[in-house]
Amino acid sequence: MAKVFAFARKSTLALRQRRAALVRSLRLPPALIRASVVERFGTCGSLTCRCRSGAKHGPYYYLTQCLAPGKVRKFLLKTDPAVAQARRATASFNAFYDGLEELSQINTELLHRGEDLEGGAPSA
Ligand SMILES: [Zn+2]
Repeated sequence: MAKVFAFARKSTLALRQRRAALVRSLRLPPALIRASVVERFGTCGSLTCRCRSGAKHGPYYYLTQCLAPGKVRKFLLKTDPAVAQARRATASFNAFYDGLEELSQINTELLHRGEDLEGGAPSA
């Protein structure tokens, strides 16, 4: 779900200024990944292993990516550097997406107020 920004009480000028700041600051991070890093603990095949009495193996980290309803790409992140990269890449995506979402909601509010989205200057 998208974060909801509250713009109702902001002036059109303030919205346009925030929009300009977002456009200046949003840089597409090349290493972004839209996915989640999930932590899992598990049991092995041995019936006498400690994991059978609650001390499960792990943590193991997986990258999970929903591509479409019912279609998920998921794989084990095998090394600490891979886990760290995955965390940075998903955080980069989320930060970029939050900025994009705020820009979209500002533009929606401006359109709702009858403002011109393509012109830069605020109307009187
Ligand atoms: Zn085990």
